[in-house]
Amino acid sequence: MKDDFKLVLGLEVHIELATKTKMFCGCLAHHFGEQANTHVCPTCMGLPGALPFANKEAIDFAVKFGSSFNSRIAEYSKFDRKHYFYPDLPKAYQISQYDLPFCSKGTYELNSGKIIHIRRIHLEEDTGKLIHKKVDGKNTSLIDYNRSGVPLMEMVTEPDFEKIEEAVEFLKEVQHIARYLSISDADMEKGSMRLEANLSLSQKDTKGNYSLPDYKIELKNINSFKFMQKAIEAEIIRQKRLLLEGKTPAQETRGFDEAKGTTFSQRSKEEAKDYRYFPEPDLPPIRFTKSEISKVMNHLVELPREKVKRFKKEYSLSDHYLLFLVADRGIADYFEEAVKVGKDHLISPKEIANVMVNMKMHEEHELPAELIKKLVAAKKTSFASDDDTKKAVVEVISQNSRAVKDYKEGKVQIIGFLIGQVQKILQGKGDPKIIQNILRENLFN
Ligand code: ZN
Ligand code: MN
Repeated sequence: MKDDFKLVLGLEVHIELATKTKMFCGCLAHHFGEQANTHVCPTCMGLPGALPFANKEAIDFAVKFGSSFNSRIAEYSKFDRKHYFYPDLPKAYQISQYDLPFCSKGTYELNSGKIIHIRRIHLEEDTGKLIHKKVDGKNTSLIDYNRSGVPLMEMVTEPDFEKIEEAVEFLKEVQHIARYLSISDADMEKGSMRLEANLSLSQKDTKGNYSLPDYKIELKNINSFKFMQKAIEAEIIRQKRLLLEGKTPAQETRGFDEAKGTTFSQRSKEEAKDYRYFPEPDLPPIRFTKSEISKVMNHLVELPREKVKRFKKEYSLSDHYLLFLVADRGIADYFEEAVKVGKDHLISPKEIANVMVNMKMHEEHELPAELIKKLVAAKKTSFASDDDTKKAVVEVISQNSRAVKDYKEGKVQIIGFLIGQVQKILQGKGDPKIIQNILRENLFN
């Protein structure tokens, strides 16, 4: 986009939470690949008279996630009914949150240093799943309520993104953090992470200022980062053309036709008043004390970015290794365990990282202690022989009489220098422990 237009992009991310049970009933929340309508009860099927109760685990997950984005956690919040009619929503309303979400006013700093503002993070329930297929030769829509009532966390950002790459960077981190906190697998293919993008173009006026757009297009059903990228690019072209013709794009929800590479109108966008929000009378408001909030904050796990910083400092590893090690919490933990064991055997963090990069970490693999054993054994065979080491030690002692004298007079730390000299002769192939032992034996001869 040239100077005349600026992208104004905000994101909505829905993340299905990996809680044991559903948001407002005791049914198992897991639904992927399960037999249809086996995890259901009167509450999640919306039968009259059934009463909901809120899932504490889901609320804790949302608060943890919000804290990871520096959000303000509400001391008082509540659930609301959001009405719309669609066959996958049996009550004809979704229990969601309207004016008092659990988290608000979060931030995220992009690598460029730019701050993305997060408007809110709230909880709601997922809908059932419609399956369209032929039954007895007739086109039929079937409903699976296993997903109905599964906890869904919705994150809404301010329209702070000006480039698609910024949105992709942010979303990858959102996914990463959800996985690090073990609150969701955030898998876009399985639908446990879903995206919507709100975008418009701001046009440069005659004074050279960007005026705020007076319309907004919502892109829905985005199922991958690639798809999002292409859909936004197509939408930018379409909106730009309309604006150049002096028209304002209509406020609506659009989908993206990947084959044609263009977006198409789905429906005119609802406004909040169309949803007739009102407080859910069957659920009491939720209160958090300050100490409860700080308790959650204190139990936050180390986030990927902080881990990268610490690993860099503690193990002085290059970015190549860091990215690999920190991508997955299990891999990072494995590495640190191996480093701990390796320390006693003079196996360096870098050596460990180097082997791990070539291991298939997501398949069956040995425990850290076994890995170190293997590394020690491999090193032994490539070490210089004891005879060669001894020869080198004798040579070093005869050539460094000054250092030897210092050592004998009590400057024991000078042994490090002598080990270094021996390694030089052995071209780094000496076993430091053995060199040290032979040195000690020979220094007082
Ligand atoms: Zn249920
Ligand atoms: Mn929602």
